[in-house]
Amino acid sequence: MKIGVLALQGAVSEHIKAIEACGAEGIAIKRPQQLKDIDGLIIPGGESTTIGRLMNVYEFIDAIRQFSAAGKPIFGTCAGLIVLAKRIAGQDDSYLGLMDITVSRNAFGRQRESFEADLDVKGIEGGALRGVFIRAPLVTETGTGVKVLATYQDQAVAVREGHLLGTSFHPELTDDYRMHEYFAEMVKHNR
Ligand code: GLN
Repeated sequence: MKIGVLALQGAVSEHIKAIEACGAEGIAIKRPQQLKDIDGLIIPGGESTTIGRLMNVYEFIDAIRQFSAAGKPIFGTCAGLIVLAKRIAGQDDSYLGLMDITVSRNAFGRQRESFEADLDVKGIEGGALRGVFIRAPLVTETGTGVKVLATYQDQAVAVREGHLLGTSFHPELTDDYRMHEYFAEMVKHNR
């Protein structure tokens, strides 16, 4: 099983390490042509404006939309969740516009630019998962097909819509790989 990590900007090597810890092959994706070789895709954290701009430059937008239309699983973390969203608060345009959610960027404010919190994630056994939040977005609205998997202070921070998964936090920055295992299961079931 091969899982790609969009390697335009952001935390790529940490995701690859987590994928390999789950027993799958992790591949850095730098060109849209590589998407045909993988079974699932992770879009990492970083800066959504930069990732969005580079996705346009390297012609990833339509290619990832086709990947999604073929039912292949996609997991967006932090900025990756922002680029998956159909609506971004305060912005006219979205990037991939795939997941039926509204996100609010940098939603925790300056005092709380980065922090960690224990989260109960639906579908993940074995106790709380440590969420690392770095200038994180919040999911402020979810469409009917979207399941909220985890909340922090009553707001959605992990969501799933069919083959699409997203977290506000960075599961690649701890050595607890259960969120990646969850995604690897989605990819396995889809094959
Ligand atoms: N604040 C960033 C953005 O708006 C996301 C931060 C992150 O990915 N850690 O894109």
